[in-house]
Amino acid sequence: MGYEDVYRRSIDEPEAFWGEEARAIHWHVPPRQVLDYSKPPFRRWFVGGQTNLCYNAVDRHLPERADQLALVAVSTETGTTREISYRELHRDVNAFAAILLRLGVGRGDRVVIYMPNMAEAVFAMLACARIGAIHSVVFGGFAAHNLALRIDDAQPKLLIAADAGMRGGKVIPYKPLVDEACAKAATPPPKVLIVSRGLDPAEPKVAGRDEDYATLRQAVGDEQVDVAWLESNEPSYLLYTSGTTGKPKGVQRDVGGYAVALALSMRTVFDVAPGQVMFSTSDVGWAVGHSYNVYGPLIVGATSVLYEGLPFHPDAGIWWSLCEKYGVRTMFSSPTAIRVLKKHDVDFIRRHDLSKLRYLFLAGEPLDEPTAHWINDALGKPVIDNYWQTETGWPALTLLPGLDMKPVKFGSPGFPNLGYRMKVIDEGTGAEVGPGEKGVLVIQPPLPPGCMTTIWNDDARFLSSYFSHFKELLYSSLDWAIRDEQGYTFILGRTDDVINVAGHRLGTREIEESVSGFPAVAEAAVIGVNDELKGQVPVVFATLRQATEEPHERVRAAEGMRRTVEQSLGAVARPARVYIVNALPKTRSGKLLRRSLQALAQGADPGDLSTLDDPNALEEVKKALQRGPEAGN
Ligand code: ATP
Ligand code: MG
Repeated sequence: MGYEDVYRRSIDEPEAFWGEEARAIHWHVPPRQVLDYSKPPFRRWFVGGQTNLCYNAVDRHLPERADQLALVAVSTETGTTREISYRELHRDVNAFAAILLRLGVGRGDRVVIYMPNMAEAVFAMLACARIGAIHSVVFGGFAAHNLALRIDDAQPKLLIAADAGMRGGKVIPYKPLVDEACAKAATPPPKVLIVSRGLDPAEPKVAGRDEDYATLRQAVGDEQVDVAWLESNEPSYLLYTSGTTGKPKGVQRDVGGYAVALALSMRTVFDVAPGQVMFSTSDVGWAVGHSYNVYGPLIVGATSVLYEGLPFHPDAGIWWSLCEKYGVRTMFSSPTAIRVLKKHDVDFIRRHDLSKLRYLFLAGEPLDEPTAHWINDALGKPVIDNYWQTETGWPALTLLPGLDMKPVKFGSPGFPNLGYRMKVIDEGTGAEVGPGEKGVLVIQPPLPPGCMTTIWNDDARFLSSYFSHFKELLYSSLDWAIRDEQGYTFILGRTDDVINVAGHRLGTREIEESVSGFPAVAEAAVIGVNDELKGQVPVVFATLRQATEEPHERVRAAEGMRRTVEQSLGAVARPARVYIVNALPKTRSGKLLRRSLQALAQGADPGDLSTLDDPNALEEVKKALQRGPEAGN
């Protein structure tokens, strides 16, 4: 059966379809009902079924793959590689679960995990899953303020933190951040477990609160801990959205639906079978990290490669050397990371034997065509753009090469994934728009398995954030999209990224795509800035592939960008000003912070900067604004 047939069945006969897919995982007690949709838009999948994510990810594979690698944790920061078999993973996860129990953590309790991409972060997640505790991984790069916000929302019984992270060879001690976050939080956790890698030995302990992992690990030895069988709809974890558009939302996920959706996607989307190898360059703190560094590959008995470090250190060949060494079949990364690599010689990629590598999946933000072409040429493998949100937990739009490899269309993340009933509708009328017409991308509920069940402790915010935008009960993605005649969907940016130039509504995303088409450009951000005459005008901030301080070259590049936009989108869209900078402000997840750029460009307060990655980028922008644009006025 091709994609169309399977997709239709997933939409027309969801209960039959998902009932069959549910067989891919282990159920301690099989579900009594596939779908309960009696309280729209809330829905419950696999009602009455009892299962466990840790059992499915670890124990279930012991009879057949105890000696196969489950996890390869590579750190070019600490210079270590750990190759962990399923047998070893089982032992370490059990020990970690025993530690959790000793620290008083039980079923339904929250545990905040604040760690970089190291093996113990994975053990900790799986250990929580084993005993039915709800983990909430907070990206290790977040500052104390972000951590405190999430602690107060999740109210954890335990915080697990690494002693330190590292970035580009620099040690970033976590303990002071943990102490600061606990001091700031209204409801600090009673216990803090520190997993030390000996990076920050100087930290004093808070008596009665802080515990040491190594000491407890020794104390529990090879203790085994019973699996807690959870009802399919009990919460498995919380994960906060990136906060690109405002206060992060605590996305809550279930157990059974999530496991089934991941198992299905590993086969149909990522085309990874038991025993094969997947390498996702994500951080465990993001949605991709949860689904495709930890749970997805392990649930199907594959090997997952976890990487801590920069993509160009020790050189820009590091990821590709790992692909060669471990025989990676499917790689998963982000457009931002590829744009970073684009500044390096393609030979770093080409010199490696990538004969086992079948696909590169990219997600997280729009994949501009020049970047897609560059990496496609460099690798000679299909580059598959896929679209999702923290909320969905697995791709909503994608190609499904494991089922039916459709031709890649650059600029498009493809088709609705199985079970996703998606439409592109008119913002005002809610009517479905025709091919080539722009509208809001929505999902008709019930949301498929794997997607969020609600916002933690806040059903009202769940309804108002996602389901209150149209007369009909629809999940709004808050992203603009266009579908072409063949059904390929294109994402045009966020619904709040539209600017109005002299009565013309322009997507900043379209202008960015056009600017990126100018060869000298590495990356571009386009925002709308208030203008007395036209209402708003487009303004560009761009980085160059080859940075230069030479004024003539900068002006030439900036003029080139304006011309390119004018030629492709018309004079209305021509950027009023182009600023060339050395870095663009992004969130820690690599997404452009357009709202802060826009505020700065209008002389306003840049707003909540707690998710900002690199403070220098903001300084760069401020300096550029003072200095004046390279082109325009
Ligand atoms: P917040 O919701 O807190 O503002 P966020 O939306 O940035 O933060 P995420 O859930 O990490 O948090 O990101 C999802 C968003 O990323 C999507 O809604 C979309 O705007 C963008 N995105 C993800 N993948 C793609 C893709 N392949 N193409 C275009 N945009 C994408
Ligand atoms: Mg979002």
